[in-house]
Amino acid sequence: MGAPTRVAVLGATGSIGTQALQVLSALGPERAVAVALSAHRDEEGLLAAARAWPGAELALSGASPRDARVAHSGAEGLVRMVEACGADVVVNGVAGAAGLMPSVAAIRSGARLALANKETMVMAGSLVMDEARRRGTRVIPVDSEHAAVFALHERFGADSVDELVLTASGGAFRERPIDTFDSITAAEATRHPNWSMGAKITIDSATMANKGLEVIEAVRLFGVEPERVKVLVHPQSRVHALVRTTDGTLYAQVSEPDMRVPIQNALTWPTLEACSFGRLDLAGARLEFSEPEKARYPLLELAYEALRSGEGACVAYNAADEVAVEAFRSGGLSYLGIARVVEAVLAGRWPARLATFDEVLAADAAARVAARNAAKGIHV
Ligand code: MG
Repeated sequence: MGAPTRVAVLGATGSIGTQALQVLSALGPERAVAVALSAHRDEEGLLAAARAWPGAELALSGASPRDARVAHSGAEGLVRMVEACGADVVVNGVAGAAGLMPSVAAIRSGARLALANKETMVMAGSLVMDEARRRGTRVIPVDSEHAAVFALHERFGADSVDELVLTASGGAFRERPIDTFDSITAAEATRHPNWSMGAKITIDSATMANKGLEVIEAVRLFGVEPERVKVLVHPQSRVHALVRTTDGTLYAQVSEPDMRVPIQNALTWPTLEACSFGRLDLAGARLEFSEPEKARYPLLELAYEALRSGEGACVAYNAADEVAVEAFRSGGLSYLGIARVVEAVLAGRWPARLATFDEVLAADAAARVAARNAAKGIHV
């Protein structure tokens, strides 16, 4: 065996980061070592995570570090650390739009990008994939659905794949009567039936904005037309995605819902190694699938609308949803208001193509202003 894989974990105190560090421990130091870790504000958590990796460089992207061991700070400090840490693989588990530039820095450093930050692809998918091609490196998705599609896609090859099917748990309100949606509280929306994740993504699961972002992500990652990406509600979250090959057959990727499986596969790619997580016994299991109801999940349809409109609208979809969910969590917007804010923002004019990262960030900033204004006007 060669030298261990050098891994940077961004968002090391979050859900993905914590599990990435568990995978590193399970693989063992002969196979993989952490060389850089970052957190947003949780300095104590970062230092605790760093105890197992004494040589790792540390960054705090959203607060001033108090401890001298944290040598990098701020959004620029995080980017500088990624550029300089010499990682072979960068696991990007940063939450939200703040994950974009660290992804770009990872690719520019020549590292493989193990991507759990879907905003990177939603905001700047074509620019990021171009950059990866130029640098001769790969983007390996660490979202459960995209990791599943990636695994199948790699085996069949793009020419043999006709359709991608992403599954959705249906979120917290899959069975709740739609006429009671006006009374949904943030506490109810942050309880997920199958996955334990951060608050934003759990609310996005309930509204299916998360699946909307994932449809956009899949279009960018795999270079397919939006109408070739389908969504099925699958409450058991065992089948993570399917691909339909050109002969009409469906192939599924099936495991227990455990993010450590796609994380490990991204770290060891292109080889599959023994994995102690996620093994599923199918005997007695019930697997159900249904079409998502449009009235229950208006944000899913809005994502397809954003894709038809172009790259600027996809940035706007993401930014408006971030602003709206934040307003919902702080009591300034109702649950139903989230989709209304996104719809209002998408009704604006957004560029079909974004040619530079500066244009991406400008569209993001403009969409946030538009979303804040829309949220003020919506009191439902
Ligand atoms: Mg997912």
